[in-house]
Amino acid sequence: MIVVLSKGVSEREKELIGIYLKDRGFGVREQTLGEAGIIGASGKGVADIRELSLLPGVERVAATTKPYELASRETKNEDTIVTVGGGSVPAVKIGGSRITVIAGPCAVESREQILETAAMIRESGAVILRGGAYKPRTSPYSFQGLGIKGLEYMKAAGEACGMPIVTEVVSPELANQMNDLVDMFQIGARNMQNYELLKKVGLMGKPVLLKRGPSATIEEWLLSAEYLMASGTKDVVLCERGIRTFETYTRNTLDISAIPVVKGLSHLPVIVDPSHAVGIRAMVSPAGLAAIAAGADGLTVEVHPRPDEALSDGPQSLFPGQFEKLMRDIEALAPVMGKELLRTPKPRLTIQGGITLPAVSAAADSQAAEQQGAEQKAAGSAGVCETAAYCGEAGAYAEQALTRVFGEGSPRLAVDSFPGIFNAVLEGKAGAGVVPVENSQTGSVHENYDLFLRYPDIAIVGELKLRIVHCLIADERADIDSIRIVRSHPQGFAQCKEFLDKHPDWVLEPSTTTATAVASIARDGALKVAAIAGEAAAKVYGLKVLREGIETNPLNYTRFVIIARKQGDKAAAPPSLGTVKVNKASLVFSVRDEPGSLFACLRILSEKGLNLSKLESRPIQGKPWEYLFYVDVSIPENAEDFHSVMDELKTKTRDFYFLGEYRASL
Ligand code: PEP
Ligand code: MN
Repeated sequence: MIVVLSKGVSEREKELIGIYLKDRGFGVREQTLGEAGIIGASGKGVADIRELSLLPGVERVAATTKPYELASRETKNEDTIVTVGGGSVPAVKIGGSRITVIAGPCAVESREQILETAAMIRESGAVILRGGAYKPRTSPYSFQGLGIKGLEYMKAAGEACGMPIVTEVVSPELANQMNDLVDMFQIGARNMQNYELLKKVGLMGKPVLLKRGPSATIEEWLLSAEYLMASGTKDVVLCERGIRTFETYTRNTLDISAIPVVKGLSHLPVIVDPSHAVGIRAMVSPAGLAAIAAGADGLTVEVHPRPDEALSDGPQSLFPGQFEKLMRDIEALAPVMGKELLRTPKPRLTIQGGITLPAVSAAADSQAAEQQGAEQKAAGSAGVCETAAYCGEAGAYAEQALTRVFGEGSPRLAVDSFPGIFNAVLEGKAGAGVVPVENSQTGSVHENYDLFLRYPDIAIVGELKLRIVHCLIADERADIDSIRIVRSHPQGFAQCKEFLDKHPDWVLEPSTTTATAVASIARDGALKVAAIAGEAAAKVYGLKVLREGIETNPLNYTRFVIIARKQGDKAAAPPSLGTVKVNKASLVFSVRDEPGSLFACLRILSEKGLNLSKLESRPIQGKPWEYLFYVDVSIPENAEDFHSVMDELKTKTRDFYFLGEYRASL
């Protein structure tokens, strides 16, 4: 049973609640979870819940039906997001709307091996380095790990590459010694039920990656998480790594169904280790992708620069090229799951064209980001403001896009028009803006393309494609038969036409944005009104999703660009666009009114091998029958002379605007 304490509860009130419970036969433990203080009452005691609810300092009493309480979703409904690292390495989040990939060798074998692996996995986009220094091997004659030396090598590699590290702790005695060197403890599958180890590691206050035992039921696994949490850590990440079944072809059997089951039972993030689950290199990537598709918050993957020479688990370790491919596939799959692959946060770096991207912040915890934002604001225009602006209200699709780029809890500013985003960035109220430019069904948002021409000091520094999944949202007490009126942005109606056609009696009322429609229900509380909007908006306003995925075409994406202000010819963009390999540029130009002038421009791009991913013409405002061409081009990996191609192109155009260069979203 869980007693949720009221906000301003006094020490004396807590003491009296404790006495009340103990007198009635309960074991009592106080915890802080999120905002609320909680007293967990365990054991076979008997108490009158109504009487208990009336004690001063008690907000409510939750009689959980599960033997694990702190790990249970009944106790805490919102997803836990675990932060790993911070300090000398960037902080990385696991859970929420990001997919976090941990990678590294099975074991640390030498200083060079771990450094080489760290640099390589970072380049492919992994954000946490793994590796065993103490290896629990089935045979006493197998390589047992380098011990504390190995851990020192690993920490140095993590720091050199700007990545937190996770490593297995095999005994309670080692926990203190390892504490200063690790960012996250791993409890191995063989030790999942080593309760003394769990109690000790739970006390250390570091995040913990808890592997599922090969023969453990989901309930036993969650009870092990409960041990860690009852000892003091809130930050537990569950890791499914295959269980023992009668099947012998693979090393273990990956229990894919455990992912949605655990996500339903617990608020803790769930990741998957496909390497130990299948044990055969060729099957690691398919199993890992299946895990992401099943809703996992990330993966931990064994990668070795030369798997054939690995001292342990070589046959299941990916070659660097295979890992790179897996990361690309995850990046493509993530938007289908409404998520974004969290890429390596890099320290301040200058990319082609001189765009400066300051460190982290997407991954950094929000408090630090807020504080940094405040400091930078205080520092004036020299600093980069960490706030990102979007148009709409909380829960809008644009806000979802913002969260995917900058992270949960990142500072944000809602404005009520598209030019408002550009103004906020220009005036330094926001360091970046999130602007929709195109929908896969309805085409370009011309208003926003035109704004780039009106704001020459703004550049594009990033891009995101957001899958739009529309829901029918209503009051908690409403049901589909009680609905008479549906509100949404006209685009919402257009994109859900087939669904709406099945309900011809519904009256459609247009609203400014989809989120405004949802807000209006929350305000009116009418049982007959529903809204079409994203699930995030339902959460923000505490409403119910009556139907999910009602858009006619499931391949419904909106492309957002991230904008920032230019300083001189550079754009100082805030946070965390992750590893920036620029591979796309956007330009707008007009050509002289003579035969072959557009052809001359396109020929330059073609001869230099630059692929056009978009070409659209738009009337020039105030000049009837004259047109601007909107062009997106891919920048090949080794296109060193890209800017000279642009210079050459400029000579063939009349007006030429370079909107920015950035990493394309898949
Ligand atoms: C590991 O991740 O290094 C490991 C030994 O995994 P498991 O405990 O899942 O076997
Ligand atoms: Mn291994």
